[in-house]
Amino acid sequence: MTDLISMTIAEARNGLANKSFTSLELTDAHLAAIEAARALNAFVLETPDKARAMARAIDARIAKGEGGPLAGIPLGIKDLFATKDVRTTACSKILGNFVPPYESTVTSQLWRDGAVMLGKLNNDEFAMGSSNETSCFGPVVNPWRREGSNTSLVPGGSSGGSASAVAALLCMGATATDTGGSIRQPAAFTATVGVKPTYGRCSRWGIVAFASSLDQAGPIARTVRDSAILMRSMAGHDPKDTTSVDRAVPDYEAAIGKSVKGMKIGIPKEYRLDGMPAEVEKLWTEGAAWLKAAGAELVEISLPHTKYALPAYYIVAPAEASSNLARYDGVRYGLRVAGGSIGEMYENTRAEGFGDEVRRRVMIGTYVLSAGYYDAYYLRAQKVRTLIKKDFEDCFAKGVNAILTPATPSAAFGVGEKGGADPVEMYLNDIFTVTVNMAGLPGIAVPAGKDVQGLPLGLQLIGRPFDEETLFSLGEVVEQAAGRFTPERWW
Ligand code: GLN
Repeated sequence: MTDLISMTIAEARNGLANKSFTSLELTDAHLAAIEAARALNAFVLETPDKARAMARAIDARIAKGEGGPLAGIPLGIKDLFATKDVRTTACSKILGNFVPPYESTVTSQLWRDGAVMLGKLNNDEFAMGSSNETSCFGPVVNPWRREGSNTSLVPGGSSGGSASAVAALLCMGATATDTGGSIRQPAAFTATVGVKPTYGRCSRWGIVAFASSLDQAGPIARTVRDSAILMRSMAGHDPKDTTSVDRAVPDYEAAIGKSVKGMKIGIPKEYRLDGMPAEVEKLWTEGAAWLKAAGAELVEISLPHTKYALPAYYIVAPAEASSNLARYDGVRYGLRVAGGSIGEMYENTRAEGFGDEVRRRVMIGTYVLSAGYYDAYYLRAQKVRTLIKKDFEDCFAKGVNAILTPATPSAAFGVGEKGGADPVEMYLNDIFTVTVNMAGLPGIAVPAGKDVQGLPLGLQLIGRPFDEETLFSLGEVVEQAAGRFTPERWW
């Protein structure tokens, strides 16, 4: 029988349509792979009964010719998406055994189109992190290892479970969310493709909120084409999210293979950091050469406010987080720790339920929003945000179609290796990705090469608002030139 887990979504779609195998067979193969890969800790909840029931139902629909664009494709869902009657925790103790009575809009669109849910994927607590080490379920392990070493590496974060599961062939694709880099950075660390759509492209309804003005859902998949297929189902207007934009969803897959001839690609000089590893720099140059060979024109651009993006993000994101997380007070969901008064009950619940990183963010956020500091920090950061957005707008106004940058400043690092004494060390992972969230733009991370230790590295393409299609066209050029990368199985 065909190897049912290493196919792409596009290949599986053909196999299902030709009746080479059923969705139930495909689903069972993935459930077996998940069971054999528990060492990766990618799934925090496996839902085999639900998966098989969904697969059987979709097999019946396929037989009647009513499949839908994702008919029978088994997916993993980040535990930040509310799934009806299935435990959803944001990987925080404070949500405990919360079982939502509703389904997020994005996941309901995936099921509408025929996808099958294998289970819920690990992530950093409330999506705060870059290594998936802040999860209350423990760290996720990257299926990639340094050559000749068995040190456990992080898969990146916060969508570490999504990236690890897709790279390790445990699911054909996964949902993820990106507030400052949480789709693109883990994709780069695992040689998967991650898309952060334009703000407003995918509904945020039913996704546990971190920083509402930055959060966006998007796919992680093994190829650019697969990410385009998933995007079409995930995107769309939703009246339940007031920031969701009412624009038709294009056929993203049709952008694959489109000529990029004559496109103007910006290379931002401010992204050339001091101390950037030579191999990251080399990969960036190589990526530019691939796009040039495909007919694109390269231009040096300037995004002068880049250096303020990370500090401004670490004011805006915690400010919004402190407000969003005020709802976890022991009254409505999950954990409650008793106290002598209602105030004490709130305090005990929050002290017990939130992990260290989440507490740090709530404290920073409360501080920057407090009366005496609001103007000096929060208001200032919002002004910086406007300038960052304007930097991009100025480049696009000069005819730049997309911008090419490295996805991350390094390859995956070891579990426990970063951020212990100094949280900023961890925050620096997002140096190339946060600007995109601050400006609300779409970005894609595509695997592009390996470092000297054999670990994957990715390139990022940043697009104009709602022009994800150009990113898919360009992303595929990079993918064709770089080839695909699969980790060797050790688990
Ligand atoms: N690593 C960043 C943070 O910790 C971004 C996380 C994300 O995109 N959800 O805030």
